[in-house]
Amino acid sequence: MMRASPFSYFAPITIGEVAKILAGEGPRALLLAGGTDLIPNMKRRTQTPAVLVSLRRVAELRGLANGRIGSAMTLSSIAESPHLSPHRALIRAAAQVATPHIRNAATLGGNLCLDTRCNYYNQNYEWRQAIDFCMKRASDGGGHPVRNEDGVCWVAPGSPRCWAVSSSDTAPALIALGATVTLVSIAGRRELPLNDLYCDDGIAYLTKPSDELLTEVVLPDATGWRSTYWKLRRREAFDFPVLSVAAAVKLASDGTVLDARLVLGAVASHPLLIAEAQELVGMPLSDDAIERLAAAAARFAKPLDNTDFALGWRKRVARAYVTGALRELRGDDPATLGLLARRATALRPLS
Ligand SMILES: Cc1cc2nc3c(=O)[nH]c(=O)nc-3n(C[C@H](O)[C@H](O)[C@H](O)COP(=O)(O)OP(=O)(O)OC[C@H]3O[C@@H](n4cnc5c(N)ncnc54)[C@H](O)[C@@H]3O)c2cc1C
Ligand code: SF4
Repeated sequence: MMRASPFSYFAPITIGEVAKILAGEGPRALLLAGGTDLIPNMKRRTQTPAVLVSLRRVAELRGLANGRIGSAMTLSSIAESPHLSPHRALIRAAAQVATPHIRNAATLGGNLCLDTRCNYYNQNYEWRQAIDFCMKRASDGGGHPVRNEDGVCWVAPGSPRCWAVSSSDTAPALIALGATVTLVSIAGRRELPLNDLYCDDGIAYLTKPSDELLTEVVLPDATGWRSTYWKLRRREAFDFPVLSVAAAVKLASDGTVLDARLVLGAVASHPLLIAEAQELVGMPLSDDAIERLAAAAARFAKPLDNTDFALGWRKRVARAYVTGALRELRGDDPATLGLLARRATALRPLS
């Protein structure tokens, strides 16, 4: 049986108390939200916090009104919320995380702060010991993994960095929707665009310091916007994304694009915002424009051999999924989109 190493447990009831405990305990403390990722990680000893600070009793973190979503809202309540239905990409992303049981416990904050993943790291202690670990390692008694200067990266052995993959479903969707997040510590509160929360580093994947708590996500007005989320995974029933595409466009009444955002998930250590989406602005969503953006996005998608499926194939599917997502936003017949997705994944390799 896998057991977590010993830890102390706090169950504060206000955001202020959480911030105070985090400031006092420093990097040895981790927040415990739904625990659906953290607890298995602690058992595998990939995260080994000496202190857990539970958010379960902090009622202030569970609000949902006027586009403001408390970070402790569960993914089920988000996926089922009629207030959030204009933000379709988020609803679709939340509804496709894991299984119904997990979504009933898993929170939005936990999903946004999810550790990056790698086939060589998300294994139990003995498995990792057998390969002499790697560059990413659990810090003894510390919450977040740290860099092991003696370790190699098994995915890219000559590489000076870790390439573990950002696998959050809601992060790309919320970035495409233009969300901002509120962070609180004893120093005060600050807001930043969600995209700025992430670093292109498989170990230190968040820009925020460990004493900051993510309290809420703020969505801008969705009037005039359409959005969607496409997810590739091995098992349709439940699985982490191996590729995801979040797209949002604001269209004028004549179909001209007024604004556009495109984000790829699970192809890098952070959600990948594709700046070229702005080139759609001022033109209709024609087949040519969609194809150009899909080709550009596939060039930026550089999947490595540390998740599921063959990487060359995943890159091809990236192009097809971007095309499908944008055609969906244009209003194409869903039957033709289903065909497109099936064609894209038809030659699915076994490894
Ligand atoms: C079988 C299985 C399948 C899964 N499939 C998917 C999937 O398809 N897609 C997907 O995205 N995830 C998946 N997950 C991972 C996980 O269930 C989800 O990402 C979930 O949303 C994590 O939320 P949580 O509340 O349980 O976070 P926790 O496990 O409690 O925490 C995760 C991390 O976030 C930090 N954290 C939590 N809340 C905050 C906060 N408010 N402020 C700052 N830091 C915070 C924690 O300290 C921890 O480091 C899966 C997990 C399992 C076990
Ligand atoms: S990408 Fe390399 S360093 Fe990072 S977890 Fe995987 S094997 Fe380890």
